[in-house]
Amino acid sequence: MRTRVRFAPSPTGPLHMGGVRTALYNYLYAKQKGGDFIIRIEDTDSHRFVPGAEQYIIEALRWCGIIPDEGVDEEGKVVETVSEKHPHAPYRQSQRRGIYKKYADELVEKGFAYYAFDSSESLEKARAEAEASGQTFIYNFETRKKLRNSLTLPADEVSRLLEETTDWTVRFKMPEDTVVSMDDMIRGHIEVNTSTLDDKVLWKRADELPTYHLANIVDDHLMEITEVIRGEEWLPSLPLHYLLYHAFGWRRPEFAHLPLLLKPVGNGKLSKRDGDKMGFPVFPLNWNNSDGETYHGYREDGYFPEAFVNMLAMLGWNPGTEQEIFSMKELVDAFSIDKVSKSGAKFNPEKAKWYNKEYLRMRDDALLADAFMPILEKNGISGADRDYVIKVIRLIKERATFVSDFWTISKALFVAPAEYEQKDVDKFWKAENFSPAFEACKSCTSGAELEEWIRSRELPMGKLMNCTRLVLTGAASGLGIGDIMALIGHDEVIRRWENALKVLGE
Ligand code: GLU
Repeated sequence: MRTRVRFAPSPTGPLHMGGVRTALYNYLYAKQKGGDFIIRIEDTDSHRFVPGAEQYIIEALRWCGIIPDEGVDEEGKVVETVSEKHPHAPYRQSQRRGIYKKYADELVEKGFAYYAFDSSESLEKARAEAEASGQTFIYNFETRKKLRNSLTLPADEVSRLLEETTDWTVRFKMPEDTVVSMDDMIRGHIEVNTSTLDDKVLWKRADELPTYHLANIVDDHLMEITEVIRGEEWLPSLPLHYLLYHAFGWRRPEFAHLPLLLKPVGNGKLSKRDGDKMGFPVFPLNWNNSDGETYHGYREDGYFPEAFVNMLAMLGWNPGTEQEIFSMKELVDAFSIDKVSKSGAKFNPEKAKWYNKEYLRMRDDALLADAFMPILEKNGISGADRDYVIKVIRLIKERATFVSDFWTISKALFVAPAEYEQKDVDKFWKAENFSPAFEACKSCTSGAELEEWIRSRELPMGKLMNCTRLVLTGAASGLGIGDIMALIGHDEVIRRWENALKVLGE
């Protein structure tokens, strides 16, 4: 059987990095097995629909290089019409609304579900009464006996209500005291007694839409999904999903519930707020909230998508070796569900930076130059010589984590210092340092010559070098003198000396 997995996001807001990881693991799983990775938009809950979220999700996955085989076309649009490549269109559940009702009815006919006519007010009342006596109300095998549904009302009344009223629902008839035995690819064998579960709503007459549970199972079946790989938060729904497959008599996919992403410190799920507090992104791309708030994205914060993907892949999975750097292709080859951990994965923002630094180091200098040119432009360096920029990058890339660090590190290689660090001036701008250092710079054109000049005269190397660096860059620490001299050239070295003598005094 051909492997077919899906990522089925609900467009209720921007995709959290945990969601991106779920998509990534699905993608890796499918690609390794030569199967299909499908995207399906689960938008049947119209109250939680957020405009722009769907596009955000697709764009985020594209940025990461997680490209679906089915459900979204080359332009990044959710496919609405059937074609050879997209045989199950439309892939947006709101556009599939017509297909679900018959499945809800089938379950009622087979005795696995029933029609419930309780108004929201009467359910509210039942809830309040239960709470008053210190209990919580759930719609289940016990309470359903006392409520208004097709199990308690006479058949003609049921027919009348189905015809004449519009706020009824179809509920799953959760069996009483039955053990559901389940298997999860990550968690192993799980058993749950149905007495702890409620009669979930499957379909609503009010908006003529299925709920998540029904739409999800029907679509996984119709789209021939072989493995469901999703977040741990869906584990409590697994017994219902097992029972639904059983009720329909359909082949059930395998299930894998991925561990949560945890906060960097303390316990609990990684949240948007942790990012705000500690200053790291929790989302792949920037997102502007309707109330004017911007959530930070890895893309806009200067991360390479390859670094982000590599870092995410390692959050909850390990290859069983020491290797930490993986290209997407290597991840596809190395990934395996049985090396995904059961317990939550602590997110480490420092590790995310480390990954970016590694990818920056490995990045082609010419590509980095392309990214650096606009930054130079913004800082007033227009029309910089590309070969010169590449030389600069070769020199400084080891010191940077992001391309945006380049300017601060290499500024002195483009412009003479406009001011000098006061503490370095106090320490190194002394006649016994600057006089011989200037002499040395006048007669030497390379770092090696300069060092030799100082050494042969038995002058204090450190002090003279720091004084020279102060003159050339405005501070005593930073790039190597030889490197600076080689890049800016002898004439510019002398100009900077003359300027320093003017500004700092002799
Ligand atoms: N629509 C669900 C979500 O937003 C999908 C859960 C599943 O993969 O079954 O996470």
